[in-house]
Amino acid sequence: MFKQRLFTPGPTPVPEEVLMELARPIFHHRTPEYRKMLEQLTRDMQYVMGTSQDVYTITGSGTAAMEAAVACAVAPGEKMIAVRGGKFGERWSELGAAFGAKVVNLDVEWGTPATPRQVADALRANSDAVAVYITQCETSTATINDVEGIAREVAATPALLAVDGISSIGAVPFKMDAWGVDIAVTGSQKALMLPPGLAFIACSAKAWKRIEATRGHAYYVDLKAYRKALAPPEWDNPYTPNNVMVRAACKAVAMIRAEGLERIWAETHKRAEAIRAAAAALGLAVYSKAPSDSVTAVKVPDGVDGEALAKTMSKDFGVKPAGGQGKLKGKVIRFTTMGYTDAWDILAAVGALEMALARLGRKVDFGAGVAAAMKVLAG
Ligand SMILES: *Cc1c(COP(=O)(O)O)cnc(C)c1O
Repeated sequence: MFKQRLFTPGPTPVPEEVLMELARPIFHHRTPEYRKMLEQLTRDMQYVMGTSQDVYTITGSGTAAMEAAVACAVAPGEKMIAVRGGKFGERWSELGAAFGAKVVNLDVEWGTPATPRQVADALRANSDAVAVYITQCETSTATINDVEGIAREVAATPALLAVDGISSIGAVPFKMDAWGVDIAVTGSQKALMLPPGLAFIACSAKAWKRIEATRGHAYYVDLKAYRKALAPPEWDNPYTPNNVMVRAACKAVAMIRAEGLERIWAETHKRAEAIRAAAAALGLAVYSKAPSDSVTAVKVPDGVDGEALAKTMSKDFGVKPAGGQGKLKGKVIRFTTMGYTDAWDILAAVGALEMALARLGRKVDFGAGVAAAMKVLAG
């Protein structure tokens, strides 16, 4: 029998209890039953994002919340800074362009984080910028940015800091209020153990001041509409939500809350360490200079076809990693360690990597990667 283990950094595996919620009968969303669900989900997402602000649930993939973060906070002609160190940083820049903002790109080499100093310098050179857009974990390069340090710099200016936490919130430490992040966004199909289809966004008081004063160019993702619909005792969405997904999200996020974020962060870190140790034992390099714990990019060794490697792992050994995106196509292979993944999944992934490398002609000391991973996971 073919059994697939998903190691892509979205979608990620979904627990059975959550899948069961998706299978239960459809219901109506303008009901007390739904309002109670959305209230619970909102409160649990506040815990996950580390904020006392409302968290709005948008039906759409993570990009819908990114679009809201740009369209509602930057008026056409206003200046924004987009930190670009990979595909998702590019998305911030493209969103700015799509909504008529004057986009200043802060380019960093792929695989390298942006430093707080670079962001502070960019803001000094562009004191009229109204917001800085950054990615906490740049999934395409598996690189983590120091959001806490960057937030400290941005907080000292009138500009807002918006963070794409789609592949990091719920997997690695993220503390919206404590760090002073103004807009935070995430999506359902990464660390939250859900299928794709819901996006989440929260805004600080500073961000709300700007959003209220900005004639943004949004309708479906107009955050003012989400705020009005959610305001207690409403606990509602402005348009028809994916209510079945909201029911499943209540389950998934309650599971996260029961487990506790600190524990989840520690376990995710351990799994990422195990993958990194396995790669080293197999003579493979980790691509990023600041590797994220939520996703790991391993360099494809010379003489091996990266796309064939991902395909062999998936087709022959039932482990589906992600290949490289954009200019990293064929050059790296990425494994997520977010969400509903355990030690055995990690050993399966490393075992599949070893077998696929051997099948593609590389000399492999079978078990070397698995043993290195076991040493980390047993610790
Ligand atoms: C997955 C991802 C996105 C895109 O989200 P969609 O759900 O595909 O719209 C954006 N940013 C990061 C960092 C991601 O990992």
